[in-house]
Amino acid sequence: MASYDHLYIDGQWVRPLRGGTFETFDPALETLLAQVAAATAEDIDLAVRAARRAFDEGPWPRQSGAERATVLRRIAATIRERQQQLAELEVRDNGKPLPEALWDIGDAAGCFDFYADQAERLDRDRERAITLSDARFSAVARQEPIGVAGAIIPWNFPLLMAAWKVAPALAAGCTLVLKPSELTPLTALELADICHQAGLPAGVLNVVTGLGAEAGAPLAEHPDVDKLAFTGSVPTGSRIMQAAARDIKNISLELGGKSPFVIFADADLEAAVEWILFGIFWNQGEVCSATSRVLVQRDLYEPLLQRLAQEAQRITIGPGLESGVLLGPLVSRGQHEKVLAAIARGEEEGARLVTGGRRPTQLPTGYYVQPTVFADMAEDSWIWREEIFGPVVCVRPFDSEAEAVRSANDSRFGLAAAVMSRDLDRCERVARALRAGIVWINCSQPTFTEAPWGGYKQSGIGRELGEWGLQNYLETKQITRYDSDQPWGWYIK
Ligand code: NAD
Repeated sequence: MASYDHLYIDGQWVRPLRGGTFETFDPALETLLAQVAAATAEDIDLAVRAARRAFDEGPWPRQSGAERATVLRRIAATIRERQQQLAELEVRDNGKPLPEALWDIGDAAGCFDFYADQAERLDRDRERAITLSDARFSAVARQEPIGVAGAIIPWNFPLLMAAWKVAPALAAGCTLVLKPSELTPLTALELADICHQAGLPAGVLNVVTGLGAEAGAPLAEHPDVDKLAFTGSVPTGSRIMQAAARDIKNISLELGGKSPFVIFADADLEAAVEWILFGIFWNQGEVCSATSRVLVQRDLYEPLLQRLAQEAQRITIGPGLESGVLLGPLVSRGQHEKVLAAIARGEEEGARLVTGGRRPTQLPTGYYVQPTVFADMAEDSWIWREEIFGPVVCVRPFDSEAEAVRSANDSRFGLAAAVMSRDLDRCERVARALRAGIVWINCSQPTFTEAPWGGYKQSGIGRELGEWGLQNYLETKQITRYDSDQPWGWYIK
């Protein structure tokens, strides 16, 4: 059984050395959900040392991919068996509607299955012969696990973000220390229990809950960590990069976004409204790839705003466990205040508030924000340029394709983008012109474990998911052999 006031280190549930805890809350009820173990630098050191021992001496990195795949598939199966319980726990901790949480947990299981296949593929592809320009030599390129990984994750998809890092790291043969967000730590502790039951050797996965400064920073700075995999905000990503710089740690960063959605006038109006809604209100807009900047070609602009407002107002808001709810509370009081402050700033800047913008009054408790649509803001306004991470979409008109591409690319972020038109040639052309790591055509948000995920510009470094996700946790070694029976003959003639 997972124990929320314990850390999972070296295959055991242990109390933090300083005995501290922090609180996690149910954002619909605004009540205490659990007291959670607060790790500090001493606990992080124990966890990293356990991971180091498991990497240097333990069986996991030395097993075949097929052997590791068996454990990964057991983890996937147990996540599926416990899908309902895990999803309900995720709703209580994060606030999201239950059907979305069920989707996340199913995806997390799928991620472990996918990387089980990748672990088996490694057995086939681990070494590849290289043809050299000098026939006296032969060489192979070999892939080996990178070592001890430190994984630090955010609160918006708690178990899924853990799976995106834990599954490929385990498939590669790495060992790791996972630090979930202090706002949603519970399902990561459940994952530790699931991995334990699945027979993962002690020390291979360690889960340490705690605050960013007290637990995250010492993990990022620990000299025995070989690789840092981080998902979160740009400012924290920058701090992680600085911490990694000292020891030249390998890093991958998945950061924020303000992703554009370009909609041409020939698009189907109903489809456009549906995908805009899905692109910004799914998961309360607390989605790194949310298409929160919508560019609409002038002829469709006003009709689209009108339909969008109608449909946004029809979205059922309420506690995530209530049936029919499509928009739950935001994750925390702090996030609620941040999003309401962003809306106030948009109004001060003179953007037109088309709908929403307030806390719904009919709900007695909970960090709710109405689905919010802003229009007509200036291109250099704060609300158009900065990530809000809430159910707030900004809409602007455009005239030409060139203008839409320029405006879409005019951002320090480059995580995702979307384009919609009945003209598929135009969609394909625009997709290639958009400076983003993920581009959706005639949709927004569907995410597949098989395809690469990550950002251009300040949205990050590296790619997760698919075969790219596995590469994050692999080193490439060349082994070159002198095959000739002739002496080398440089010094000794
Ligand atoms: P955050 O940066 O505040 O926190 C992320 C994690 O970092 C948490 O576990 C936190 O405890 C830890 N942390 C905080 N300070 C730290 C420090 N000094 N050293 C080490 N670790 C530290 O981000 P958040 O508020 O949890 O998440 C929201 C952000 O995450 C948004 O900007 C969003 O766009 C981004 N995000 C990106 C993706 C992606 O795939 N690109 C996915 C989800 C979220």
